[in-house]
Amino acid sequence: MHAVVAGAGIGGLTTALALARAGAGVTILERAAVLAEAGAGVQLSPNATRILAGLGVLERLRRFALVPEALTIRRGRDGLQLARMRLGPPAETRWGAPTLVVHRADLQRGLLEAIAREPGISLEAGMEVAGYSAHVDSVKIGARRGEAGVTFAGDLLVGADGLHSAVRGRLCADASDAPICSGRVAWRALIPAADVKPDFQAPVVNLWLGRDAHLVHYPLRDAAVINVVAIFEDGEDEREPADASWSAAGDPAVVGRKFSDWCGAVRDFIAAAPEWRTWPLFERRVLARWSNGRVTLVGDAAHAMLPFLAQGAAQAIEDAAALARAVAAAPHDIPRALEAYGHARCARAARVQRQSRRQGWMYHLAGPLALARDLSMRGLGADRLIARYDWIYADKS
Ligand SMILES: Cc1cc2nc3c(=O)[nH]c(=O)nc-3n(C[C@H](O)[C@H](O)[C@H](O)COP(=O)(O)OP(=O)(O)OC[C@H]3O[C@@H](n4cnc5c(N)ncnc54)[C@H](O)[C@@H]3O)c2cc1C
Repeated sequence: MHAVVAGAGIGGLTTALALARAGAGVTILERAAVLAEAGAGVQLSPNATRILAGLGVLERLRRFALVPEALTIRRGRDGLQLARMRLGPPAETRWGAPTLVVHRADLQRGLLEAIAREPGISLEAGMEVAGYSAHVDSVKIGARRGEAGVTFAGDLLVGADGLHSAVRGRLCADASDAPICSGRVAWRALIPAADVKPDFQAPVVNLWLGRDAHLVHYPLRDAAVINVVAIFEDGEDEREPADASWSAAGDPAVVGRKFSDWCGAVRDFIAAAPEWRTWPLFERRVLARWSNGRVTLVGDAAHAMLPFLAQGAAQAIEDAAALARAVAAAPHDIPRALEAYGHARCARAARVQRQSRRQGWMYHLAGPLALARDLSMRGLGADRLIARYDWIYADKS
Protein backbone atom coordinates (compact mmCIF):
# COMPACT_ATOMS: atom_id res chain seq x y z
CA MET A 1 0.00 0.00 0.00
CA HIS A 2 1.25 3.45 -0.82
CA ALA A 3 0.11 6.71 0.78
CA VAL A 4 0.79 10.23 -0.47
CA VAL A 5 0.86 12.88 2.24
CA ALA A 6 0.48 16.53 1.21
CA GLY A 7 2.41 18.71 3.66
CA ALA A 8 5.39 18.13 5.95
CA GLY A 9 4.26 20.04 9.03
CA ILE A 10 3.92 18.31 12.40
CA GLY A 11 0.73 16.63 11.15
CA GLY A 12 2.18 15.38 7.86
CA LEU A 13 5.47 14.13 9.31
CA THR A 14 3.76 12.27 12.16
CA THR A 15 1.21 10.79 9.75
CA ALA A 16 3.96 9.57 7.41
CA LEU A 17 5.79 7.95 10.30
CA ALA A 18 2.66 6.32 11.74
CA LEU A 19 1.57 4.99 8.32
CA ALA A 20 5.05 3.62 7.62
CA ARG A 21 5.00 1.81 10.96
CA ALA A 22 1.66 0.34 9.89
CA GLY A 23 3.37 -1.09 6.81
CA ALA A 24 2.63 1.56 4.16
CA GLY A 25 5.07 3.14 1.74
CA VAL A 26 4.75 6.92 1.95
CA THR A 27 5.61 9.87 -0.29
CA ILE A 28 5.46 13.26 1.41
CA LEU A 29 4.97 16.24 -0.92
CA GLU A 30 5.95 19.54 0.69
CA ARG A 31 5.48 22.92 -0.98
CA ALA A 32 8.40 24.61 0.79
CA ALA A 33 11.82 24.06 -0.75
CA VAL A 34 13.38 24.03 2.72
CA LEU A 35 11.61 22.66 5.76
CA ALA A 36 11.43 25.25 8.50
CA GLU A 37 8.91 25.14 11.34
CA ALA A 38 7.49 28.62 11.74
CA GLY A 39 7.24 30.11 15.20
CA ALA A 40 9.16 28.99 18.23
CA GLY A 41 7.79 27.04 21.16
CA VAL A 42 5.12 24.39 21.28
CA GLN A 43 3.62 22.77 24.35
CA LEU A 44 3.24 19.02 23.90
CA SER A 45 0.58 17.59 26.17
CA PRO A 46 0.49 13.95 27.35
CA ASN A 47 -2.05 12.88 24.71
CA ALA A 48 0.60 13.84 22.11
CA THR A 49 3.77 12.68 23.89
CA ARG A 50 2.16 9.26 24.50
CA ILE A 51 1.87 8.81 20.73
CA LEU A 52 5.34 10.20 20.05
CA ALA A 53 6.68 7.68 22.57
CA GLY A 54 5.00 4.87 20.63
CA LEU A 55 6.62 6.13 17.43
CA GLY A 56 10.06 6.23 19.06
CA VAL A 57 10.30 10.04 18.77
CA LEU A 58 9.88 10.98 22.42
CA GLU A 59 13.28 9.76 23.59
CA ARG A 60 15.03 11.93 20.95
CA LEU A 61 12.84 14.84 21.86
CA ARG A 62 13.68 14.63 25.53
CA ARG A 63 17.23 15.72 24.62
CA PHE A 64 15.93 19.12 23.54
CA ALA A 65 12.70 19.50 25.46
CA LEU A 66 12.06 20.99 28.85
CA VAL A 67 9.69 19.42 31.37
CA PRO A 68 7.83 22.29 33.07
CA GLU A 69 7.36 21.90 36.82
CA ALA A 70 4.06 23.75 36.93
CA LEU A 71 1.48 25.87 35.18
CA THR A 72 0.76 29.11 37.00
CA ILE A 73 -2.16 31.40 36.24
CA ARG A 74 -1.95 35.02 37.33
CA ARG A 75 -3.94 38.19 37.01
CA GLY A 76 -2.17 40.60 34.66
CA ARG A 77 -3.30 43.77 36.41
CA ASP A 78 -1.54 43.08 39.73
CA GLY A 79 0.20 39.70 39.40
CA LEU A 80 -2.14 37.96 41.87
CA GLN A 81 -1.69 34.19 41.56
CA LEU A 82 -5.03 32.56 40.71
CA ALA A 83 -3.81 28.96 40.45
CA ARG A 84 -0.72 26.81 40.33
CA MET A 85 -0.97 23.30 38.93
CA ARG A 86 1.94 20.94 39.33
CA LEU A 87 3.17 19.36 36.13
CA GLY A 88 6.42 17.31 36.02
CA PRO A 89 6.37 13.81 37.60
CA PRO A 90 2.94 14.06 39.35
CA ALA A 91 1.27 15.04 36.08
CA GLU A 92 3.15 12.33 34.21
CA THR A 93 1.83 9.79 36.71
CA ARG A 94 -1.70 11.16 36.38
CA TRP A 95 -1.81 11.16 32.59
CA GLY A 96 0.68 8.41 31.83
CA ALA A 97 2.98 10.56 29.68
CA PRO A 98 4.99 13.76 30.12
CA THR A 99 4.11 17.35 29.33
CA LEU A 100 6.94 18.98 27.40
CA VAL A 101 7.76 22.35 25.94
CA VAL A 102 9.99 22.23 22.90
CA HIS A 103 11.21 24.41 20.08
CA ARG A 104 9.23 23.59 16.93
CA ALA A 105 12.44 23.14 14.99
CA ASP A 106 13.56 20.51 17.52
CA LEU A 107 10.26 18.66 17.24
CA GLN A 108 10.56 18.76 13.48
CA ARG A 109 14.14 17.50 13.69
CA GLY A 110 13.05 14.62 15.96
CA LEU A 111 10.37 13.60 13.47
CA LEU A 112 12.71 13.95 10.48
CA GLU A 113 15.39 11.84 12.19
CA ALA A 114 12.83 9.08 12.75
CA ILE A 115 11.64 9.38 9.14
CA ALA A 116 15.19 9.14 7.83
CA ARG A 117 15.40 5.68 9.39
CA GLU A 118 12.27 4.52 7.53
CA PRO A 119 13.28 3.28 4.06
CA GLY A 120 9.62 3.30 2.98
CA ILE A 121 9.23 7.09 3.31
CA SER A 122 10.42 9.61 0.73
CA LEU A 123 10.09 13.36 1.03
CA GLU A 124 9.81 15.63 -2.00
CA ALA A 125 10.47 19.23 -0.99
CA GLY A 126 9.52 22.13 -3.26
CA MET A 127 6.52 20.12 -4.52
CA GLU A 128 3.16 21.86 -4.30
CA VAL A 129 0.01 19.74 -4.46
CA ALA A 130 -2.40 21.41 -6.86
CA GLY A 131 -5.21 18.87 -7.09
CA TYR A 132 -6.13 15.24 -7.40
CA SER A 133 -8.42 12.89 -9.26
CA ALA A 134 -10.02 9.96 -7.49
CA HIS A 135 -10.29 6.57 -9.16
CA VAL A 136 -11.81 3.31 -8.00
CA ASP A 137 -8.52 1.73 -7.02
CA SER A 138 -6.13 4.68 -6.74
CA VAL A 139 -5.79 8.43 -6.41
CA LYS A 140 -3.71 10.56 -8.80
CA ILE A 141 -2.15 13.69 -7.41
CA GLY A 142 -1.22 16.66 -9.55
CA ALA A 143 1.71 18.64 -8.18
CA ARG A 144 3.99 21.46 -9.32
CA ARG A 145 7.69 21.95 -8.88
CA GLY A 146 8.31 25.46 -10.10
CA GLU A 147 6.72 25.59 -13.56
CA ALA A 148 6.86 21.83 -14.05
CA GLY A 149 3.82 19.63 -13.48
CA VAL A 150 4.42 16.25 -11.83
CA THR A 151 1.94 13.42 -11.19
CA PHE A 152 2.01 11.02 -8.26
CA ALA A 153 -0.24 8.06 -7.55
CA GLY A 154 -1.19 6.29 -4.36
CA ASP A 155 -3.77 4.12 -2.68
CA LEU A 156 -4.67 7.08 -0.52
CA LEU A 157 -4.03 10.80 -0.24
CA VAL A 158 -3.76 12.56 3.11
CA GLY A 159 -4.19 16.33 3.12
CA ALA A 160 -1.86 17.52 5.87
CA ASP A 161 -1.48 20.86 4.14
CA GLY A 162 -2.55 23.15 6.94
CA LEU A 163 -5.03 25.99 7.38
CA HIS A 164 -5.31 26.81 3.66
CA SER A 165 -5.42 23.17 2.58
CA ALA A 166 -5.72 22.66 -1.17
CA VAL A 167 -6.79 19.06 -0.53
CA ARG A 168 -9.64 20.25 1.70
CA GLY A 169 -10.65 22.75 -0.96
CA ARG A 170 -11.07 19.94 -3.50
CA LEU A 171 -12.54 17.48 -0.98
CA CYS A 172 -15.27 19.86 0.22
CA ALA A 173 -15.81 21.71 -3.07
CA ASP A 174 -17.70 24.37 -1.09
CA ALA A 175 -16.75 27.98 -1.79
CA SER A 176 -18.05 29.09 1.62
CA ASP A 177 -15.62 26.75 3.43
CA ALA A 178 -12.83 29.26 4.06
CA PRO A 179 -10.60 29.93 7.09
CA ILE A 180 -12.55 31.89 9.71
CA CYS A 181 -10.75 34.97 11.05
CA SER A 182 -11.01 35.30 14.84
CA GLY A 183 -10.14 39.01 14.99
CA ARG A 184 -7.32 38.10 17.38
CA VAL A 185 -3.63 38.19 16.71
CA ALA A 186 -0.87 36.20 18.40
CA TRP A 187 2.30 38.23 18.95
CA ARG A 188 5.32 36.03 19.46
CA ALA A 189 8.83 36.71 20.66
CA LEU A 190 11.91 34.91 21.94
CA ILE A 191 13.67 36.74 24.75
CA PRO A 192 17.19 35.78 25.88
CA ALA A 193 16.75 34.43 29.41
CA ALA A 194 19.58 36.64 30.66
CA ASP A 195 17.44 39.68 29.85
CA VAL A 196 14.54 38.80 32.14
CA LYS A 197 14.12 38.53 35.92
CA PRO A 198 14.89 35.09 37.48
CA ASP A 199 11.15 34.53 38.16
CA PHE A 200 10.56 34.53 34.42
CA GLN A 201 13.35 32.00 33.81
CA ALA A 202 11.86 29.25 36.02
CA PRO A 203 10.83 26.00 34.27
CA VAL A 204 7.16 26.89 34.47
CA VAL A 205 4.42 27.58 31.92
CA ASN A 206 3.02 30.98 32.87
CA LEU A 207 -0.40 32.24 31.90
CA TRP A 208 -1.46 35.81 32.69
CA LEU A 209 -5.05 36.93 32.18
CA GLY A 210 -6.40 40.42 31.52
CA ARG A 211 -9.15 42.38 29.82
CA ASP A 212 -9.28 41.32 26.12
CA ALA A 213 -5.76 39.89 26.31
CA HIS A 214 -3.62 37.14 27.74
CA LEU A 215 0.05 36.27 27.84
CA VAL A 216 1.80 32.88 27.88
CA HIS A 217 5.50 32.32 28.41
CA TYR A 218 7.85 29.48 29.19
CA PRO A 219 11.56 28.79 28.83
CA LEU A 220 12.98 26.75 25.96
CA ARG A 221 16.27 25.08 25.05
CA ASP A 222 17.85 24.55 28.48
CA ALA A 223 16.10 27.73 29.58
CA ALA A 224 18.39 29.83 27.39
CA VAL A 225 15.44 31.66 25.83
CA ILE A 226 11.92 32.50 26.91
CA ASN A 227 9.13 31.82 24.43
CA VAL A 228 6.39 34.45 24.67
CA VAL A 229 2.95 34.57 23.10
CA ALA A 230 0.73 37.60 23.69
CA ILE A 231 -2.77 37.33 22.26
CA PHE A 232 -5.20 40.19 22.12
CA GLU A 233 -8.34 41.32 20.41
CA ASP A 234 -7.47 43.72 17.69
CA GLY A 235 -9.93 44.47 14.93
CA GLU A 236 -7.31 46.70 13.27
CA ASP A 237 -5.01 43.75 12.95
CA GLU A 238 -7.45 41.50 11.15
CA ARG A 239 -5.79 40.25 8.02
CA GLU A 240 -6.86 38.28 5.05
CA PRO A 241 -5.89 34.60 5.25
CA ALA A 242 -3.46 35.02 2.38
CA ASP A 243 -1.43 37.40 4.51
CA ALA A 244 -1.42 35.21 7.60
CA SER A 245 2.25 34.61 8.05
CA TRP A 246 4.86 34.34 10.75
CA SER A 247 7.05 36.67 8.80
CA ALA A 248 5.01 39.77 9.62
CA ALA A 249 7.01 41.94 12.00
CA GLY A 250 5.03 43.50 14.85
CA ASP A 251 5.54 47.03 16.15
CA PRO A 252 6.69 46.75 19.81
CA ALA A 253 4.84 49.99 20.57
CA VAL A 254 1.52 48.25 19.82
CA VAL A 255 2.12 45.40 22.25
CA GLY A 256 3.53 47.87 24.81
CA ARG A 257 0.29 49.89 24.60
CA LYS A 258 -1.90 46.80 24.92
CA PHE A 259 -0.22 45.84 28.18
CA SER A 260 0.32 49.35 29.54
CA ASP A 261 -2.15 48.87 32.42
CA TRP A 262 -0.70 45.48 33.45
CA CYS A 263 1.65 45.12 36.43
CA GLY A 264 5.23 46.38 36.20
CA ALA A 265 6.75 42.88 36.06
CA VAL A 266 4.81 42.10 32.87
CA ARG A 267 5.55 45.50 31.31
CA ASP A 268 9.31 45.09 31.94
CA PHE A 269 9.20 41.55 30.59
CA ILE A 270 7.42 42.59 27.40
CA ALA A 271 9.82 45.48 26.90
CA ALA A 272 12.74 43.00 26.91
CA ALA A 273 11.58 41.33 23.66
CA PRO A 274 14.09 42.10 20.89
CA GLU A 275 11.43 41.75 18.17
CA TRP A 276 7.87 40.60 17.71
CA ARG A 277 6.28 38.50 14.99
CA THR A 278 2.54 38.46 14.49
CA TRP A 279 0.18 35.67 13.51
CA PRO A 280 -3.52 36.41 12.92
CA LEU A 281 -5.58 33.56 14.33
CA PHE A 282 -7.99 31.55 12.20
CA GLU A 283 -10.00 28.40 12.62
CA ARG A 284 -11.92 26.13 10.26
CA ARG A 285 -15.52 25.07 10.56
CA VAL A 286 -16.26 21.55 11.72
CA LEU A 287 -16.64 19.12 8.81
CA ALA A 288 -19.32 16.43 8.97
CA ARG A 289 -17.02 14.12 6.98
CA TRP A 290 -13.24 14.21 6.80
CA SER A 291 -12.89 11.72 3.95
CA ASN A 292 -14.18 11.00 0.52
CA GLY A 293 -13.17 7.68 -0.98
CA ARG A 294 -9.39 7.46 -0.85
CA VAL A 295 -8.76 11.02 0.32
CA THR A 296 -8.72 12.33 3.86
CA LEU A 297 -7.40 15.15 6.05
CA VAL A 298 -5.28 15.50 9.19
CA GLY A 299 -4.24 18.40 11.43
CA ASP A 300 -5.11 22.00 10.67
CA ALA A 301 -6.46 20.97 7.26
CA ALA A 302 -9.17 19.01 9.09
CA HIS A 303 -9.74 21.12 12.19
CA ALA A 304 -7.66 24.30 12.50
CA MET A 305 -8.45 25.65 15.95
CA LEU A 306 -7.68 28.64 18.13
CA PRO A 307 -4.57 27.99 20.23
CA PHE A 308 -6.07 28.58 23.70
CA LEU A 309 -5.83 24.94 24.76
CA ALA A 310 -2.44 24.47 23.03
CA GLN A 311 -3.90 21.48 21.19
CA GLY A 312 -3.54 22.08 17.42
CA ALA A 313 -0.35 20.07 17.01
CA ALA A 314 -1.43 17.55 19.64
CA GLN A 315 -4.66 16.88 17.76
CA ALA A 316 -2.72 16.51 14.51
CA ILE A 317 -0.56 13.90 16.25
CA GLU A 318 -3.71 12.12 17.50
CA ASP A 319 -5.05 12.15 13.92
CA ALA A 320 -1.86 10.52 12.65
CA ALA A 321 -2.10 7.65 15.13
CA ALA A 322 -5.83 7.12 14.53
CA LEU A 323 -5.38 7.13 10.75
CA ALA A 324 -2.59 4.56 10.89
CA ARG A 325 -4.70 2.34 13.16
CA ALA A 326 -7.69 2.54 10.82
CA VAL A 327 -5.57 1.76 7.74
CA ALA A 328 -3.89 -1.17 9.49
CA ALA A 329 -7.33 -2.54 10.42
CA ALA A 330 -8.66 -2.45 6.82
CA PRO A 331 -5.67 -2.31 4.45
CA HIS A 332 -7.69 -3.79 1.58
CA ASP A 333 -10.59 -1.39 1.87
CA ILE A 334 -9.10 2.11 2.04
CA PRO A 335 -12.39 4.04 1.68
CA ARG A 336 -13.79 2.08 4.63
CA ALA A 337 -10.59 2.64 6.65
CA LEU A 338 -10.74 6.39 6.00
CA GLU A 339 -14.42 6.53 6.90
CA ALA A 340 -13.66 4.73 10.18
CA TYR A 341 -10.80 7.16 10.85
CA GLY A 342 -13.03 10.22 10.39
CA HIS A 343 -15.65 8.62 12.59
CA ALA A 344 -13.12 7.98 15.33
CA ARG A 345 -11.72 11.52 15.30
CA CYS A 346 -14.38 13.98 14.23
CA ALA A 347 -16.33 14.44 17.48
CA ARG A 348 -13.25 14.71 19.66
CA ALA A 349 -11.48 17.24 17.44
CA ALA A 350 -14.69 19.29 17.23
CA ARG A 351 -14.96 19.27 21.02
CA VAL A 352 -11.37 20.48 21.36
CA GLN A 353 -12.07 23.24 18.80
CA ARG A 354 -15.18 24.32 20.70
CA GLN A 355 -13.47 24.21 24.06
CA SER A 356 -10.46 26.18 22.73
CA ARG A 357 -12.81 28.94 21.57
CA ARG A 358 -14.54 28.97 24.94
CA GLN A 359 -11.20 29.07 26.76
CA GLY A 360 -10.25 32.18 24.74
CA TRP A 361 -13.48 33.88 25.75
CA MET A 362 -12.86 32.98 29.40
CA TYR A 363 -9.23 34.21 29.33
CA HIS A 364 -10.26 37.63 28.01
CA LEU A 365 -13.13 38.45 30.39
CA ALA A 366 -13.36 41.87 32.00
CA GLY A 367 -15.23 43.45 34.92
CA PRO A 368 -17.54 41.34 37.13
CA LEU A 369 -17.25 38.28 34.90
CA ALA A 370 -13.46 38.34 35.25
CA LEU A 371 -13.85 38.69 39.00
CA ALA A 372 -16.18 35.68 39.08
CA ARG A 373 -13.71 33.68 36.97
CA ASP A 374 -10.82 34.58 39.28
CA LEU A 375 -12.78 33.70 42.43
CA SER A 376 -13.84 30.40 40.95
CA MET A 377 -10.26 29.53 39.94
CA ARG A 378 -8.96 30.33 43.39
CA GLY A 379 -11.86 28.46 45.02
CA LEU A 380 -11.53 25.35 42.88
CA GLY A 381 -7.95 24.65 43.86
CA ALA A 382 -5.25 22.95 41.85
CA ASP A 383 -6.61 19.39 42.03
CA ARG A 384 -10.02 20.20 40.64
CA LEU A 385 -8.56 22.56 38.05
CA ILE A 386 -6.17 19.91 36.83
CA ALA A 387 -8.99 17.34 36.64
CA ARG A 388 -10.63 19.55 34.01
CA TYR A 389 -7.90 18.54 31.57
CA ASP A 390 -8.32 14.78 32.06
CA TRP A 391 -10.60 14.40 29.05
CA ILE A 392 -7.91 15.85 26.79
CA TYR A 393 -4.69 14.55 28.26
CA ALA A 394 -5.70 11.08 29.43
CA ASP A 395 -7.32 10.16 26.12
CA LYS A 396 -5.90 6.86 24.89
CA SER A 397 -8.27 6.27 21.97
C1 LIG B 1 0.22 31.15 18.42
C2 LIG B 1 0.06 29.68 18.30
C3 LIG B 1 0.51 28.84 19.32
C4 LIG B 1 0.30 27.47 19.24
N1 LIG B 1 0.73 26.67 20.26
C5 LIG B 1 0.48 25.35 20.22
C6 LIG B 1 0.90 24.51 21.31
O1 LIG B 1 1.50 24.98 22.27
N2 LIG B 1 0.60 23.18 21.24
C7 LIG B 1 -0.06 22.63 20.16
O2 LIG B 1 -0.31 21.40 20.15
N3 LIG B 1 -0.43 23.39 19.11
C8 LIG B 1 -0.18 24.73 19.12
N4 LIG B 1 -0.53 25.52 18.06
C9 LIG B 1 -1.17 24.90 16.88
C10 LIG B 1 -0.16 24.22 15.97
O3 LIG B 1 0.91 25.07 15.68
C11 LIG B 1 -0.84 23.80 14.66
O4 LIG B 1 -2.10 23.27 14.90
C12 LIG B 1 0.01 22.73 13.97
O5 LIG B 1 1.31 23.21 13.73
C13 LIG B 1 -0.64 22.31 12.65
O6 LIG B 1 0.19 21.39 12.00
P1 LIG B 1 -0.18 20.88 10.53
O7 LIG B 1 0.91 19.93 10.17
O8 LIG B 1 -1.59 20.40 10.50
O9 LIG B 1 -0.17 22.17 9.63
P2 LIG B 1 1.08 23.14 9.23
O10 LIG B 1 2.04 23.24 10.34
O11 LIG B 1 0.46 24.39 8.71
O12 LIG B 1 1.80 22.35 8.05
C14 LIG B 1 1.25 22.31 6.76
C15 LIG B 1 2.39 22.01 5.79
O13 LIG B 1 1.84 21.82 4.51
C16 LIG B 1 2.60 22.55 3.56
N5 LIG B 1 1.69 22.88 2.44
C17 LIG B 1 0.70 23.77 2.40
N6 LIG B 1 0.07 23.73 1.23
C18 LIG B 1 0.68 22.77 0.50
C19 LIG B 1 0.46 22.24 -0.80
N7 LIG B 1 -0.51 22.69 -1.59
N8 LIG B 1 1.28 21.24 -1.23
C20 LIG B 1 2.26 20.75 -0.44
N9 LIG B 1 2.51 21.23 0.79
C21 LIG B 1 1.71 22.20 1.27
C22 LIG B 1 3.08 23.78 4.31
O14 LIG B 1 4.23 24.35 3.70
C23 LIG B 1 3.39 23.15 5.67
O15 LIG B 1 4.69 22.63 5.73
C24 LIG B 1 -0.34 26.91 18.11
C25 LIG B 1 -0.75 27.74 17.05
C26 LIG B 1 -0.55 29.11 17.15
C27 LIG B 1 -1.03 29.97 16.04
